[in-house]
Amino acid sequence: MKNWMFSLSLLLCASFSNTQSTAPHEHEHSQQFTLAPKTLKATDARFIQPYTVNAGYLAVKGMEIKGFDAKSMEKVEQAFDVMEKVVNTEEFKSRVLNFVNTQGKTEFASNKGLTNEQVYARFMDGREDLQQDTPGEMNFFLKLYHKRYSKVIGWTNADINTININWKFFKGFKPSDVAGNFAHEWTHKIGFGHKSAAEHDSAPYAIGYIVREMSERALKGEELH
Ligand SMILES: [Zn+2]
Repeated sequence: MKNWMFSLSLLLCASFSNTQSTAPHEHEHSQQFTLAPKTLKATDARFIQPYTVNAGYLAVKGMEIKGFDAKSMEKVEQAFDVMEKVVNTEEFKSRVLNFVNTQGKTEFASNKGLTNEQVYARFMDGREDLQQDTPGEMNFFLKLYHKRYSKVIGWTNADINTININWKFFKGFKPSDVAGNFAHEWTHKIGFGHKSAAEHDSAPYAIGYIVREMSERALKGEELH
């Protein structure tokens, strides 16, 4: 398994594998729209399906949360709440659709051949690679761990639901930082990776930064649209 640990100062982190699920997306919900695949790569079987999206609300759900005490749980819940607010705004949509990478192209780095519109659609669909039957939900399995001499803020990989969060960083994070980190990790859960911890224009990093910045404003009382 290929592991990627993010280290740097700001946010996120994670290990991640390129293993892909090939399960087709189902068409079982009435409120869906279809995005025509545009630049899909034949090597990426999972994305060959015409992409459908839950056009409704994307809810954030804690599924299994381990190792957090009451005070930490409060921060997790604040992060969940603000992230749910953020991802359902028009601003979030617009910022993902209009994202420009470091090459000046309107696309994410390591985008699996998906356009920004398709990345957004996949995000809002809410179906994780390992949880195809929960559209419309960002499902979180979190585990807090303690590793003092580590630069890893959190990690996950494609074979597990769990997102592991390092207390060393979590303890000093604001809820908006946590929301950004969760969004980064969850973007791994829907199949996107990054070539390195320096690939800040990959979907996990870029979306994590958008969520963090918008969460910070929301938590200061700004009304998001
Ligand atoms: Zn990562």
